[in-house]
Amino acid sequence: MADRKPLISGNWKMNHNHFEAIQMVQKLAYALSQNDYDVVDVSVHPPFTDLRSIQTVLESDDIPIALGAQNCHWEAKGAFTGEVAPGMLAKMNVSVVIVGHSERRELFGESDDEVNRKVKAVLANGMTPIMCCGETLEEREADGAVTKVKLQVLAGLAGLKAEQVAGLVIAYEPIWAIGTGMTATPEDAQEMCSAIRGVVRSKWGAEAAHGVRIQYGGSVKGANAPDLMGQSDIDGALVGGASLDADEFARIIGYRLVG
Ligand code: PEP
Repeated sequence: MADRKPLISGNWKMNHNHFEAIQMVQKLAYALSQNDYDVVDVSVHPPFTDLRSIQTVLESDDIPIALGAQNCHWEAKGAFTGEVAPGMLAKMNVSVVIVGHSERRELFGESDDEVNRKVKAVLANGMTPIMCCGETLEEREADGAVTKVKLQVLAGLAGLKAEQVAGLVIAYEPIWAIGTGMTATPEDAQEMCSAIRGVVRSKWGAEAAHGVRIQYGGSVKGANAPDLMGQSDIDGALVGGASLDADEFARIIGYRLVG
């Protein structure tokens, strides 16, 4: 792997009220040590209603886990009932925001253009976007996976400067692997992550391609993390189900200690 520090992110989706979230993050912090934080960046992405509670725990106990959100709107304020502005997240010391998760795209109709606006808004508020992309099983079986993912990357990051791209995170998450227990083989995941880095190189140049961190997501667990994380273009993981179990998530973060 290059000199990029891996980022392992836990996407809790619509799970854990704020009491459960506090217990979860305390248990996770107990299972991790400075040896982990020295070599891996860790972020947790609880529901919006938990953010303030988790912020308080992380800051009062000096826990070096980054506070993350799962989504945001692109506007700074206004008549957008039910939405949360990026500036509101930044004010709570949220530093990483997942944008364009396939569940947002598939279940809530989020378009590439909206994803692009969100990426720009997250950056404008000093936070790091994790821009998600990935193909359906039908697209993969029809040999359309690489084309779909490349187009999502180009559209989602359209209009960004090379130095902005160098500092952000792209999560490659094959939709058929999310929450299904089916994982891409390390070789398939590496092939797509390498293709993503190739698109970044041709559009934004070598430095952006070298800097951008590419996570793999899709049924990552303690058992498969070492092989996935051992691939040269995989710089971390976006973890759903397994991040809800503090011990299992800690095993993923400690992937280098297994075997
Ligand atoms: C996700 O939701 O981003 C995800 C990868 O979920 P899971 O790990 O449960 O497949």
